[in-house]
Amino acid sequence: MLHSSHGIDYLLDLNARHAQDFIDLATERRRYRGEHPTEIAALKCMDGRLNLPVMTQTALGIIQPYRNLGGKFELGWPFFQATLDQWVQYSISRGRHCMVFVTYHFARGDVHRGCRGFNYDTDAARDTAIKLKDQFDRVYGKGAVIPIVCGIETDLEALILHGEDDQRSVDLANIRETSQLELFELLRSLYPSMPEKIVSDLTPLVHGNIRHVSEIRASNRAIEDAEHKEWVLGVGRGFDWLHVINTAFIVGPFDPHLSVAIETAANLLKGNIDEGRVDPSKGIVLLTSSAYRDAAGAEYRLSREKASFLSKFSLDIIKDRVPGLVPHLQILTGLTDLNTRKFEVLERHCDIPVFTA
Ligand SMILES: [Zn+2]
Repeated sequence: MLHSSHGIDYLLDLNARHAQDFIDLATERRRYRGEHPTEIAALKCMDGRLNLPVMTQTALGIIQPYRNLGGKFELGWPFFQATLDQWVQYSISRGRHCMVFVTYHFARGDVHRGCRGFNYDTDAARDTAIKLKDQFDRVYGKGAVIPIVCGIETDLEALILHGEDDQRSVDLANIRETSQLELFELLRSLYPSMPEKIVSDLTPLVHGNIRHVSEIRASNRAIEDAEHKEWVLGVGRGFDWLHVINTAFIVGPFDPHLSVAIETAANLLKGNIDEGRVDPSKGIVLLTSSAYRDAAGAEYRLSREKASFLSKFSLDIIKDRVPGLVPHLQILTGLTDLNTRKFEVLERHCDIPVFTA
């Protein structure tokens, strides 16, 4: 199984394969975008199980992921609002609608397979998502940006769509194979004020998830596959190539309390070692990435500076607050080209120089 592999070389190989797939899908993506122009973002927990392109059977690069501990975001966060608003303005300038999946996650079979970022409290996770959705409505009004509260149920990898009135929700695991038209009507009733174009761009994702759930059911996969065995702490952006289950905790750079998010993720990794779920001799990796689109100018060079800074910043926090993790750590720092998803290595170390307190 892929996810039993460890180490920096495994990560680089994974990235190379993902980048190749991403490049191979360029034509498919362009065709899809032509048909379904709505720009789609997903705000989600750093939990590695939440792979929306797979769950919705959508080509890589269609859904823009933003990841943070527990999927907690807040439009007041200075860096987050700047990044997100840039995306909104870009979409508007190209005449496209924006849709944002505001997600939380849980597992229907066992509360302890839910979100550790919320101490497995699914109600709290859902309420936080609803609050964030309301914040989007307040800021952008109804129209330019459409937020949708969406639960991600990880046992069957099913989406739970919450209607715009926060009263009704539909668990896609309960919807059998159905016609495009029926699906369109279902979405119309959940989201009566959603522009028709967005409904028709949401439909293929919903359809994809219904298909995906029936495949998961048919595969009868063992449930322990969904337990926490992460061995990577990813800090930064550009990680949609790193979506293998049980592999990474991802901390986005958005949270003003970034150091707390890094500390929490480091503690979760340490817990995986202490409780025997991962073997530290196979390599525990602090992976830092920044993302850029334009290789020619300052954006690329700023990206390099950011990756180096974030890597050192994260390591300092781990040394200070979760020192027991340090002897197990390997370091991989680099940048991800958003045009190809290719990761360029700036720095790699197999062990951390011993430090004195
Ligand atoms: Zn979570």
